[in-house]
Amino acid sequence: MSEKVEAIVIKSNDRKEKDANVLLFSLEKGKIWVTLKGIKGQNAKMKLAQRMFCFGEFVLQDGKSGQIVTSFECLESFFEIAEDVEKYFEGAAILEIVEKLRFSSDYERAQVFMLVLKALKSLCFGEIRKNYTLNKFFIELFSLFGMKLNTQKCSVCGTRAFDRLFIDYATGELACVACKSFRSEELPKTTVSALKILTNTEFEKLSTLKLSAGSENALLKILVKNFETRFDEKLKFIGVFD
Ligand SMILES: [Zn+2]
Repeated sequence: MSEKVEAIVIKSNDRKEKDANVLLFSLEKGKIWVTLKGIKGQNAKMKLAQRMFCFGEFVLQDGKSGQIVTSFECLESFFEIAEDVEKYFEGAAILEIVEKLRFSSDYERAQVFMLVLKALKSLCFGEIRKNYTLNKFFIELFSLFGMKLNTQKCSVCGTRAFDRLFIDYATGELACVACKSFRSEELPKTTVSALKILTNTEFEKLSTLKLSAGSENALLKILVKNFETRFDEKLKFIGVFD
């Protein structure tokens, strides 16, 4: 039995000389480890299938120890992400997040799959300032998981009239000073503004943005902490804050 999946390569480990184990994020089956055979040989097309970020159609067949890729069609290599060190760190961070996610439904997984493709596309082809795409990815991700960060009103009392806004790590929501819990952190005005602007800007328009200096990283640190608290995972995020 063989089956075809659409997937993005998260990472790959050389197993033997000629084979590689590849972690895929597939639309149909979520995250799966598969084996690529004979990739050191002449088959250049298959070599692409072990490259991080590569998006394509994989035909899988059951083997003795897991599934083997018998055919691969590259739909988009996102080659430019790996070629540019800043884009690479940001793209790798997106894949690291995906690696840590657990999905509660096929629908949720499919939504995240489309989001990852959209983020990689804008990172790859857009001229976007560092970490804007990663911030936007986080914002959309929280929203997909039902944890939208709403800057318009306090998530507890609903007031829209507040001077100060806090992120409550106990709930992953934004709250006013009267409603915040002891596990809250105040969002500086520039961070709230960056969050608002990024929430309201589509991926395709991120290249037009210029946020106040440093606000993107201040926001990103808060989104990382929120993710780590919500999903009980640590993110390495190599190179992201350098
Ligand atoms: Zn409130």
